[in-house]
Amino acid sequence: MNKNPDNFGYYGEFGGAYIPEMLYPNVKELQENYLEIIESEEFKTEFKDLLQHYLGRSTPLYHAKNLSQKYQTNVYLKREDLNHTGSHKMNNALGQILLAEKLGKTRIIAETGAGQHGVATATACALRGLKCIIYMGEVDMKRQAPNVARMKMLGAEVRPATSGSKTLKDAVNEALADWISNPTDTHYLIGSAVGPHPFPDIVARFQSVISEEIKDQFHQQFGRQPTHVMACVGGGSNAAGTFYHFIDEPQVELIAAEAGGLGVNSGKSAATYQLGSIGILHGSKSLLMQTKDGQVVEPHSISAGLDYPGIGPLHAHLATEKRLKIVAVTDEQALKAAHELTRLEGILPALESAHALALLETQNFTSNDQVVICLSGRGDKDLETYLNAFNLNS
Ligand SMILES: *Cc1c(COP(=O)(O)O)cnc(C)c1O
Repeated sequence: MNKNPDNFGYYGEFGGAYIPEMLYPNVKELQENYLEIIESEEFKTEFKDLLQHYLGRSTPLYHAKNLSQKYQTNVYLKREDLNHTGSHKMNNALGQILLAEKLGKTRIIAETGAGQHGVATATACALRGLKCIIYMGEVDMKRQAPNVARMKMLGAEVRPATSGSKTLKDAVNEALADWISNPTDTHYLIGSAVGPHPFPDIVARFQSVISEEIKDQFHQQFGRQPTHVMACVGGGSNAAGTFYHFIDEPQVELIAAEAGGLGVNSGKSAATYQLGSIGILHGSKSLLMQTKDGQVVEPHSISAGLDYPGIGPLHAHLATEKRLKIVAVTDEQALKAAHELTRLEGILPALESAHALALLETQNFTSNDQVVICLSGRGDKDLETYLNAFNLNS
């Protein structure tokens, strides 16, 4: 099982770079240069320094005893919510900002769903003095208003995406259109393990620090590997990072939670793996939700970060090869899991992360299992949704 793509960007049959001719120069420049830059000692030293001193890495691997007791198993939370700006997104944003600088870019564009990637990108741009434009679905701008405010305060321009369902997929379309119009000075800082080659590989490598740390931390404490490693999957960046260094360890089971929305068969979900078929979305061949004649189906999830009709090519490959199990988790199950973590452990998780937590209820772990869950982000941005769901708003 290969965690890196071949020279053309394929993981098995998934991946590649399916792009309009006008994007060739931008994508080709990246393809030809990215590995040499990010594998250089100079780059690695600079990146590591920022991860440690600016983000606050390493993040804790926390033994959640109350949660463990409730499910009669052993639960460890990888606390990506404790990164500066509150999610795993910052690992990738910092890495790509350094990469953009080395390529001589001065203008950064990005898409965002929940707003976490927009905030991470705006933060990295402020730090390095780069111009920043964020595309965000109009619907998401409303449901994640606090993050819009943060981006503006950080000096970014937030441009609403007003087509389609006005959510993440539409924001990606607008960002790609911008990149076509600005081929020389602009870097498109993609926030998930999606897009044309080499983006899925770039994002997986920058996020792989998560599994590198889990492996070290678990080994130091227990002298062994965990039995299960779990994460939620929207496009797949936190999951790629959480799984990366375990892909070649067949005894470690990998499980991902995708957004089941109102139910996989309700017509309102983002359960890409359960419902998807092979097709091309945003420059790469992968599994996506589409009609018989290839129209992308509008996704639904209560969590803006999982509200995406596709899945990264690495995950499509791992799942088809049976190395990765992908389970749909509904809005309701995620809300319940978020409430439970908050009340049992005093940790308020992002709605996205709550989908991974909900697997504890459905996967029947035993007292011999050692289960690591990636807590991809904190839940402050979702407070309004939580207060409404639990009638705490009066
Ligand atoms: C964006 C986001 C996700 C989903 O994106 P992936 O690329 O699938 O990781 C999950 N959790 C949080 C907290 C996010 O901000």
